[in-house]
Amino acid sequence: MRDSLPALPRLYERYGKEAVEFQLAALERHGSVVDDPQLWLQAALGGGFKFMPIEHVDHCPCGSAQTTLLSRFVYWNLLGVRECDRCGVLFVSPRLTKAAMEDVFAEHYFDYDDLECWGERRSKVFADVMRLLELRGVRKVFDVGAAYGHFVKYAQERGLMAAGSDISARAVEVGRRQFALELYAGALEDLSLPNQSVDAVVSLDAFYYVADPRAELDAMRRLVKPGGVIVLRLRNGLWSRLLARAAGFRAVTRSPLPAPHLWGFTPQSISHLLEASGWRVEECQPAAYSTTAFAQLQSIAISLNRIARRGWGRFPILTRSFNVIARSTN
Ligand SMILES: [Zn+2]
Repeated sequence: MRDSLPALPRLYERYGKEAVEFQLAALERHGSVVDDPQLWLQAALGGGFKFMPIEHVDHCPCGSAQTTLLSRFVYWNLLGVRECDRCGVLFVSPRLTKAAMEDVFAEHYFDYDDLECWGERRSKVFADVMRLLELRGVRKVFDVGAAYGHFVKYAQERGLMAAGSDISARAVEVGRRQFALELYAGALEDLSLPNQSVDAVVSLDAFYYVADPRAELDAMRRLVKPGGVIVLRLRNGLWSRLLARAAGFRAVTRSPLPAPHLWGFTPQSISHLLEASGWRVEECQPAAYSTTAFAQLQSIAISLNRIARRGWGRFPILTRSFNVIARSTN
């Protein structure tokens, strides 16, 4: 390992021998998972990150192994953003292992003292999704990544049967206690819920955290009745891709994807993945925002983008987030 690090004397001079030796020991523990020891060492000495374990993702969920490294960034370790050459999905690799992600979530799970207020902030997002479900006659819905259960509560109040799940046991416990909701703690595929038991599954701003999107889509397809509906609300990977391209891969930068997202999807790339996983895409649309200081401006942007797409179906989605709606081909 040391022989492949020609810059060691320079690093000793700059950071002190003790600091360099400390990081070298950490680097040796990581072993072959680190694909660029020189860059890793510089990032560790410069940024002082924690040594969360990392792993590589060899294949895009579409099955292709042809991928391109777009940029490197530091998030508890030296990570990278890659793009699939075939379908355009962006993904983090190397990335934190599943166990490390669970630690990150346990420590940094989004936390709101005022749960009512949080629900209010999301009301436009929920109304958007609710309309999509009502248009398709959905009576029973399951929310994957439900957090405290705000959407589950929202859907119930509008006459739907609703339940949900989240990987955070604490959020689920709070949601059950506070709102008396049917919430399950854990990853969808580990929950052994009854097959074909709901009309629709939704996942709002959560799908890009799953370790294996293909397996998650399969689990969702088992959960819905034949011909059932899926609604995913996702960050628009269009902007992450531009950021990643602009950053280049020589420098270590901020993550082009909002950390700790593991995947970046555009309307095109998620449609490709859904179609390959037994879903037929019906619609992609610019998504409403949570209420923020710029709410008025954002509403105008969404309206304009929706009008443009109504005029020409292939007009790109430019908003920060989008909804994709598909139906199971079972
Ligand atoms: Zn791909």
